[in-house]
Amino acid sequence: MDREYRICKRCIMDTTDPDISFDEQGICNHCREYAVHYGKDVFTGDEGKKRLDEIVARIRAKAGKSEHDSVMGLSGGVDSTYVAYLAKQLGLNPLCVHLDNGWDSELSVKNIENIVRRLGFDLHTHVIDWEEFKDLQLAYMKASVIDIEVPTDHAITAVLYDVAREQNISFILSGNNIATEGILPFSWVHGNKNDLINLKAIHRKFGSLPLKSYPRLGLCRRLYYHVVKKIRTVKILNYIRYNKKEAKRIITESLGWRDYGYKHYESFFTRFYQAYILTKKFGVDKRRAHLSTLICSGQMTREEALSEIQKELYNEDDLKNDKEYVLKKLGLSEKDFERIMALPVKSHLDYGSDLKIHRLIMSAYEKLKRFKARR
Ligand SMILES: [Zn+2]
Repeated sequence: MDREYRICKRCIMDTTDPDISFDEQGICNHCREYAVHYGKDVFTGDEGKKRLDEIVARIRAKAGKSEHDSVMGLSGGVDSTYVAYLAKQLGLNPLCVHLDNGWDSELSVKNIENIVRRLGFDLHTHVIDWEEFKDLQLAYMKASVIDIEVPTDHAITAVLYDVAREQNISFILSGNNIATEGILPFSWVHGNKNDLINLKAIHRKFGSLPLKSYPRLGLCRRLYYHVVKKIRTVKILNYIRYNKKEAKRIITESLGWRDYGYKHYESFFTRFYQAYILTKKFGVDKRRAHLSTLICSGQMTREEALSEIQKELYNEDDLKNDKEYVLKKLGLSEKDFERIMALPVKSHLDYGSDLKIHRLIMSAYEKLKRFKARR
């Protein structure tokens, strides 16, 4: 990272993203790409409503008399909670699926209970085998790759598809959205959370227990679910003017939801990962991307974002407590952990990966979708 420091003049993305580029006005590639994505994939106002009504009609028609018309992942975070709220408003009845990976905070458990109770939705909790999951998380840490959240994100998608198939449900409601998550540099995450080849390669090299029950979803299975079973994911937040502050206010008032302080802090591990491991070892502060997205979607000014990013990620007491808790739960000594933190950073691609073929398929699929839409 011997590049001269530079920050975008419009958002707050900077050279901590090694691939960032700037135009003559000093505006970064993320700002430009965001505008393109937003223009292509976000529909608000009457157009959004029309499209959302069509989607709801399709979901209902497909469900027929089945009890649940869709499945959705419920982490208890803002986005998934708002998806649940919106689904209710739209007259849908999703089966809410929660992945318990052992790291839920007490507050997230309470929030999830409140959400399903107040909305009258059913909840299916998939409790992951802790010893296997711990072994996999430790393997990712020892592999020294940036995206230690893959074991969680991979399992959530796998469980959602499995539940959809078992219950004969064709639609998965997703909280992924462009308005609050549209910016995320390629190098800050692994580009394919369903990269089973990468997961297996890392676990083979650094794991010590066989993965017997860990939920898996590789490329072939994903294609099978998509092409044969015709299970579709719907990002419903892209069909409304999704505003984080407003969403928080609504879910707080109507569902008794309580804030965790920051995005994804519903999980103890994620908080420690984002606020400590990512910043200290990888030099990445994910808030920079989240705040930049809010600037680009008009939900925050650049000045507000600059002041927000100055706030410290951890106060000393919280850091000490979280570190003690995480290390103890993972069975790591302070020394082992420091050794992991000092390992040279590796790319996910240093291990086996299906990222290239995944990108080829995704780009062909996008082209096909746009071709169909034009006809
Ligand atoms: Zn920018």
